[in-house]
Amino acid sequence: MSSIFEHPDFDDHESVTLLRDAKCGLFGIVAVHSTALGPAAGGTRFWRYATPEEGIADALRLSRAMSLKNAMAGIPHGGGKGVILRPEGDFDREALFAAYGRGVNRVGGAYYTAEDVGVSPDDMRVIRTQTPFVAGLEDGDAASGDPSPITADGVFRCLKHAVKYKVGADGLENIRVSIQGLGHVGYSLARHLHKSGAKLTVTDINQAVLEQAKAEFGAKVVGPEEIYAVETDVFAPCALGGAINENTIGQIKAKIVCGGANNQLAAPDLASALQSKEMLYCPDYIVNGGGIINVASELSGTYDFEWVDNKLNGLVDTLKAVISESELSGRDTDSVAEEIALSRIAAAKERLKT
Ligand code: NAD
Repeated sequence: MSSIFEHPDFDDHESVTLLRDAKCGLFGIVAVHSTALGPAAGGTRFWRYATPEEGIADALRLSRAMSLKNAMAGIPHGGGKGVILRPEGDFDREALFAAYGRGVNRVGGAYYTAEDVGVSPDDMRVIRTQTPFVAGLEDGDAASGDPSPITADGVFRCLKHAVKYKVGADGLENIRVSIQGLGHVGYSLARHLHKSGAKLTVTDINQAVLEQAKAEFGAKVVGPEEIYAVETDVFAPCALGGAINENTIGQIKAKIVCGGANNQLAAPDLASALQSKEMLYCPDYIVNGGGIINVASELSGTYDFEWVDNKLNGLVDTLKAVISESELSGRDTDSVAEEIALSRIAAAKERLKT
C-alpha cells in the first residue's frame, strides 16, 4: 500500500491524525493543511462513506479548501478539517462525539473544530466536554451557535452581486435560482431568496424538507438528477462536493454558479470549462466563508456581530475583485482566486521564517 504522502489529495498537509476508539466505533480523521495564518479552523463532517479511504480523501481535500477559504476571508486561521465516518447500524452518538473530542484535543490546538455536514451545535457541546479547541457553541461567553445561517447570508450577498454583474438586475425579483440540497445552509439560503422575490427550484434526497420548501416558498421540486438541467439564472450547489463534474457540466444551463457547498468542482479544470460556456463561477471558498468568519469571531474570545457583518461584505468585495481580475486576464475565476489565496499563505509562511 502506498503511503499517505503519495495520496493524490495530499498537498504538503502539516499533519493528518487518524482517530480510533474501538469501544464506541469511532473512525475519524483530523487533517491540518496549514497553520501559516494561525491555528487551523474548519468544521467536522459526519458522513457515511463507502470506504475509509473516501473519508481520508475528503479530509485532505476539505482541509486544503479551508486554507484557501480562511485566507480569502482574511481571518487569522489556517485550514483544517475533521471527518467522522458514520458507523453502520446503531451507535451511541454522545460517546462517539466525546471520543472524537478527545482526538481533537490530542491535536493540541493546531486545529479548532465546528459544525459541518451532519453535525449540530449539540454535538459541539459534547466535544466541548473533552477539549477547548471547539467553536460553534450555543452557550458560553463568546458563543456563536450554528454557523450555517451566517454561511447562507454570505452566499446570499455574493449571489446578489453575481446576478447584478451577470444579469444586470438590481434585485432578485423573478430571478430563477435552483438549489441542490436544502440542509442547514441551503434552506436558510432559500429563505433569503424567497424573501427577495426569487423563483426557486429545489432538490434534496430528504422528501420532508422538499415538502416544507414547497409549502413555505412555493418552490418547484425536481429529482436529484434533474436539478442540473433546469433552465435557471443561478445554480446553487448546497449539498456535498463535486456537483460540477464531467457528467453534469454538459447539462448545466445556469448563467451563474454560486452556492454554499464546499469543493463544488470535481476537478480544477472545470472552472475554465464553465468559463468557456460563459457561465460565471463564484468560487465556493469565497462565497461560503461566512460560517468560518462567525467561528473566528467566537474564537477571538468576544463575539462581535458588527465585525462579522463587515467581513461578510468583505466576501462580496473579494468576489468583485476576483471577477475583475478574471475579466482583465481572461483566466477563470477559480484560478484567480486560488492564486490570491496561495500567495497570502506563502507570504504568511515567509513571515514565520523571520
Ligand atoms: P446539511 O447536512 O445540513 O445539508 C446537506 C443537505 O444536502 C441535506 O439536506 C441532504 O439531504 C442534502 N443532500 C445530500 N446529498 C444530496 C444529493 N445527492 N442531492 C440533493 N441533496 C442532497 O449540511 P450543511 O451544513 O447545510 O452544508 C451543506 C454544504 O455547505 C456542505 O458542502 C458543507 O461543507 C458546506 N458548508 C457548510 C457550512 C456551514 O456553515 N454549515 C459552511 C461552509 C460550507
